[in-house]
Amino acid sequence: MGELHFASIGVLPSIPDSLTIPQFQLDLATSTDRPARPSGTSCFIDDLSGKQVYLEEVRERTQGLANALSSLYSIGEDDVVLLFSRNHLDYPIAIWAAHRVGAIVSPANPDFTRQELEYQLKATKAKLLIAHPDVLNVAIPAAQAYGLAPDRILIFDALNNAVSKFVNVDSLVERGLRTSKAFLERRLKRGEGKTKLAFLSFSSGTTGTPKAVAIPHIAVIANVLQLAAHSRINEEYGDWNDRRYRPGDTAIGVLPFYHIYGLVVNLHFLLYCGMSIVIVPKFNFEGMLKSIVRHKITHLMIVPPQAVLLCKHPAVKKYDLSGIRYIMIGAAPLSDEVNERLFKLFPDAHIGQGYGMTETCTVISIWSIERKRGISGSAGQLIPGVVARILKSDGTLGGYGDVGELVVKAPSNALGYFNNPQATQETFVDGFVRTGDEVRVAPDGELRIIDRIKEIMKVRGFQVAPAELEGTLLCVLVSCNKAAGTHHLSRDHPDISDACVVGVPDDYSGEVPLAFVVLTADAAGRAERNPHDLKTIRVSILKHVADLKIGYKHLAGGVEFVDSIPKNPSGKLLRRVLRERAKELKTTK
Ligand code: AMP
Repeated sequence: MGELHFASIGVLPSIPDSLTIPQFQLDLATSTDRPARPSGTSCFIDDLSGKQVYLEEVRERTQGLANALSSLYSIGEDDVVLLFSRNHLDYPIAIWAAHRVGAIVSPANPDFTRQELEYQLKATKAKLLIAHPDVLNVAIPAAQAYGLAPDRILIFDALNNAVSKFVNVDSLVERGLRTSKAFLERRLKRGEGKTKLAFLSFSSGTTGTPKAVAIPHIAVIANVLQLAAHSRINEEYGDWNDRRYRPGDTAIGVLPFYHIYGLVVNLHFLLYCGMSIVIVPKFNFEGMLKSIVRHKITHLMIVPPQAVLLCKHPAVKKYDLSGIRYIMIGAAPLSDEVNERLFKLFPDAHIGQGYGMTETCTVISIWSIERKRGISGSAGQLIPGVVARILKSDGTLGGYGDVGELVVKAPSNALGYFNNPQATQETFVDGFVRTGDEVRVAPDGELRIIDRIKEIMKVRGFQVAPAELEGTLLCVLVSCNKAAGTHHLSRDHPDISDACVVGVPDDYSGEVPLAFVVLTADAAGRAERNPHDLKTIRVSILKHVADLKIGYKHLAGGVEFVDSIPKNPSGKLLRRVLRERAKELKTTK
């Protein structure tokens, strides 16, 4: 009993621990130990304009921006640069420029509300905000509420006069290239890659509100090399036409780079493979189908709701998708039905699931290289370098065939939660990460995710932390200064005395949040006297969350009123009881 290792044959090379990510990705891009990028194969292609950016230009722009960030904004060692943008040609440039000067990047969802962005700015103590001009209406008040001066906001594109007072990245690249090099490239001492932070990506972990996951440079490099070893891309392996990733192939970047899956797999790994990545600012299903044809896409990295659309959307028939050779689905559970339908729809493609999490800097398992198709219900096999334990509910370690929490040690593991020793201690134990996922590993190495023991919900592949929504429900806006963009929160909600949020299954989103709410005595009395009041209260609760939170956190599962929230004698929410109740409600409705 004890530790389970990967079942696939790929061999993991030693992982460089003294390189930063841009040194590994860009400076060593043409080294002979990795797939050679065919001449004429760009790194990035802009989806709409078709503009191609080649390796030399990527390197040059990164240098130029690094120079400007250092000389004009004094960005340097361990300063946090927060990226608040959709995918953009300069998104990777901004990441690697920040890394070159020793800074840390924290990517945020560009659809965040002001409160959500302010939370991330505060939690990371960001020194600079690089925003897409489309989301300046949120970026400006969030920066102000956090206390970041307007001249610390940069924008990706200079679009029109209205936003021209903000300096744009393009002009900074130019200025940085025109002036002599003012910065000293951050180089790492031997072993320093294991501790030098590269990213602060957000995850709620097994419990509580979103936390900044401290991801060192080596974690990203390790996951890239683990995936490369798993798929044997550096070996003479199998028939060329049937290889999973070939230099010169083209992937579509519909996954957002602010999420760890898009950041590591779609951006860093595919670039390492010598492929081109089409940069898609915002996912739109029919737009994606058009882009697949227009750019002759071979590789699709998607989440389950996008797989559902591929199977069910009538527009699919209008497009020739026969060029697709590879589809990877990850970030949330995929139903067997959708999996089987995908197999029929793309009879010649490699299709399967990958499983991972922010705390492991992405991939832990993926379907075996020996199979063209993953097995329905399986999240694949552990990739090289991963050591897994199965922690059974009685606290002992299990082996193949046993059900228990997956606990993993991988060279890509994060260091912990930034500035949060207690949460770190709970999740990062003896070099292992507690995944909060209940699994079983079959004797043949196939990993099945049975349930999620941790609190988070996954809505369309995005994390939703019940604790965050419960905090929002128990607060109400009492005053709002629109001009200043400030809101004052009070904990005295007029109608809610207690709340618990759980996920309910949903065919498209996977699950959606539902709130169980206990009314105050006053509100309950009003509702009893006039049932119409209950309706009004429900609507106001839905609106309250909708006003403060990004769309996928809205209470699409509804609001249910209860007399009390079940708790154990020490006052801990018995979330499982309400999760079961929510499932029953869903089946009886
Ligand atoms: P995140 O950190 O946002 O990537 O979320 C990680 C969590 O997503 C995991 O701990 C799982 O609960 C869930 N997850 C990721 N991939 C899969 C998968 N293939 N099947 C089921 N759940 C998944």
